[in-house]
Amino acid sequence: MNNKHTTPRVGFVSLGCPKATVDSEHILTRLRAEGYLISASYQDSDLVIVNTCGFIDSAVAESLDAIGEALAENGKVIVTGCLGAKGDVVWQAHPKVLAVTGPHATDEVMAVVHQHLPQPHDPYTDLVPAQGIRLTPKHFAYVKISEGCNHRCTFCIIPSLRGDLVSRPVGDVMQEAESLVKSGAKELLVISQDTSAYGVDVKYRTGFWGGRPLKTRMTELAAVLGELGKPGEGGVWVRLHYVYPYPHVDEVIPLMAEGKILPYLDIPFQHANQRILKLMKRPGSSDDVLARIQKWRKACPELTLRSTFIVGFPGETEEEFEELLDFIEAAQLDRVGAFAYSPVEGAAANELPDPVPPEVQQERLARLMLLQEEISTERLKRKIGKTITVLVEEVDEDGAIARSSADAPEIDGVVYIDNGQGLQVGEFAEVTVVDSDAHDLWAELA
Ligand code: SF4
Repeated sequence: MNNKHTTPRVGFVSLGCPKATVDSEHILTRLRAEGYLISASYQDSDLVIVNTCGFIDSAVAESLDAIGEALAENGKVIVTGCLGAKGDVVWQAHPKVLAVTGPHATDEVMAVVHQHLPQPHDPYTDLVPAQGIRLTPKHFAYVKISEGCNHRCTFCIIPSLRGDLVSRPVGDVMQEAESLVKSGAKELLVISQDTSAYGVDVKYRTGFWGGRPLKTRMTELAAVLGELGKPGEGGVWVRLHYVYPYPHVDEVIPLMAEGKILPYLDIPFQHANQRILKLMKRPGSSDDVLARIQKWRKACPELTLRSTFIVGFPGETEEEFEELLDFIEAAQLDRVGAFAYSPVEGAAANELPDPVPPEVQQERLARLMLLQEEISTERLKRKIGKTITVLVEEVDEDGAIARSSADAPEIDGVVYIDNGQGLQVGEFAEVTVVDSDAHDLWAELA
């Protein structure tokens, strides 16, 4: 620890998913707003905040290691985030931490900071940019619209870590989105545990944005976010993530077809077999889902569909797995993330009989990914010769790397532009696709 500074300095370690990143951004914003400096090293910090992840066992281990390192290097450590919600685990491993809070706890974290590192006398609030402090590059930003989840999927412990759904007021969300766009964000990624449930907890209450009444509801929110502009006109891309397959998801497809929001839907289906879906406490039958996908594609042919699946769920038979493969074949999804089921401490699915042996899980996972790779390769091949809009991510002497409407940052593919040396990071460009593989595209400036 370093006592020589006149302005108190806080170190910050941010682990976990985009939702945890947003929590980190809120805490960092408050720290800067109150005049604290953010330090990049343990030695130069007066205390350290570690924002943890507790989702799977490896994330727990990584979080506990990070706390141990911060304690050894600095000594004054506040723990927040998902692992913090399981307070005992942290206290048992590291009894010397100053405090432990759960996720989404900016006020609690700030109270502990004030206690151990008094607030500077002259907070220079004005130095904080209107959009707060962000951890993503300036040209895209995550906007968290709610916290928690009302579902009880048996493989998931998020509701017990983060509680039931709490939607942010729609006016606050819009204000944040507007200020992000003003400060240079070209893409807003709407996130939550369950984006399509937005507003259920407040009965879709009418809020206000700029004096205009606005329902707290995904479709209405997506529509006004889309009004913040259009690509190429100083506008913004709006991308919807974690959309639970409720029937009213159909309502956002016309917004995509009209170009108001990106034609991209991240919609986790998890499985296709009715019995497994029931064991998972998930909705939908594969026939319904296939019919809906066809309807969506008819209404919006540009639609990119991303989904996630769990293979080797307890009791999954070879036949049930093959039903999932048939679904994947028929659905022709653009992007698929698949995971072998792994028990998470505290999840209801751990009690289910007939666990699938790990080697069978891995074999099924490989079969599914191989099939999806073929589908993805074929689908990307069809883009060759088309001119598409991309958002530039990186530029160097070899060219540029960008993303299209089909590519969310970090989870999807990219577009390589060999003659893109003159482009600027964060600008939109028109490119013509010249080649493809299973995940990525190659293109030339149009
Ligand atoms: S909808 Fe998502 S966050 Fe909610 S319980 Fe299911 S998997 Fe977990």
